[in-house]
Amino acid sequence: MKKHNYSAGPCILPQEVFEQSAQAILDFNQSGLSILEISHRSKDFIAVMEEARALVLELLGLEGKGYQVLFLQGGASMEFLRVPYNFMKVDGKAAYLETGTWAANAIKEAQLFGETEVVASSKAANFNYIPKDYTIPAEADYFHCTSNNTIFGTQMKSFPKTDVPMICDMSSDIFSRSLDFSQFALIYAGAQKNMGPAGTTLVVIKEELLGKTGRTLPSMMDYQKQIKGESMYNTPAVFPVYASLLTLQWLKKQGGIAGIEKINAAKAALLYAEIDRNPLFEGTAAIEDRSTMNATFLLKDPAHTEKFDALWKAAGISGLNGHRSVGGYRASMYNALPLESVQILVNTMQELERSI
Ligand SMILES: *Cc1c(COP(=O)(O)O)cnc(C)c1O
Repeated sequence: MKKHNYSAGPCILPQEVFEQSAQAILDFNQSGLSILEISHRSKDFIAVMEEARALVLELLGLEGKGYQVLFLQGGASMEFLRVPYNFMKVDGKAAYLETGTWAANAIKEAQLFGETEVVASSKAANFNYIPKDYTIPAEADYFHCTSNNTIFGTQMKSFPKTDVPMICDMSSDIFSRSLDFSQFALIYAGAQKNMGPAGTTLVVIKEELLGKTGRTLPSMMDYQKQIKGESMYNTPAVFPVYASLLTLQWLKKQGGIAGIEKINAAKAALLYAEIDRNPLFEGTAAIEDRSTMNATFLLKDPAHTEKFDALWKAAGISGLNGHRSVGGYRASMYNALPLESVQILVNTMQELERSI
């Protein structure tokens, strides 16, 4: 039986994407070849790549606005270094907002390149809120932030107004909510949180901002070379790009970002209402910063842990354990998780309450 999959990533994808992917592994486009064995230079795969890139711009509302789309490898973690390579000037400076473990990892990489100012951090509170009062130095080459903190269950609800190019790690909430995406110079996201299987990273870049650092870049690090090679400077992640395309097509059928945003809001409202109502549970993130994607919560009395774990496992729920740095539980409610799965979780929380 299919589980209610709350895994933080790799995560649940739409059932039809699993089915279409399975079919393409057996016979891709009735070509007599598997998607796993075709050339990335074949006409059929070039069409996949082109449609995926176009669909990203369409869904984000960025068509005709000077943005380029790349599907790269190395995960979001590789973008932690591609970003300073491509945006930090020699003798320049970068500004970072530290809102979690991933933000801290991005900062660590930038520090290898040059002066990196952390404009604000919520580290002292174990990242349970998003800092809001900070100043971005006008001379910074770029400002980097993390829209959704997967581990700590916080999400930026607004972004600073600044003339400094804004770069955002959207790994765990890309395509989940409407934003003015044109406020960003660059957006990146590992596929495996909300777009597809692990193995490719989406990068969306305002092209005119590239090529200004005075650095000589290694080819694989160079966004301009990757753009020129149309994400095929070397062999791309053929299957993850194809499965991502299927997920984007599914998203378009849901009414795009505006359509899925309503469902995501309903799922988050249902779960947070129960966390706040049920006397056995408490949330760990500041209420105004709560993520609609990853809800983090605890049992007030850890003595109920064994009973609760047995209940949700018996209900067919998987992947609910919190990250080791927070403990407790984390319910990741990415785009493909149905509202019914959240209702099942809420039912088990109520069942626990009745049994005590
Ligand atoms: C998971 C995650 C990453 C790391 O992604 P990889 O693809 O494993 O490198 C980076 N940032 C955020 C916000 C994440 O959730």
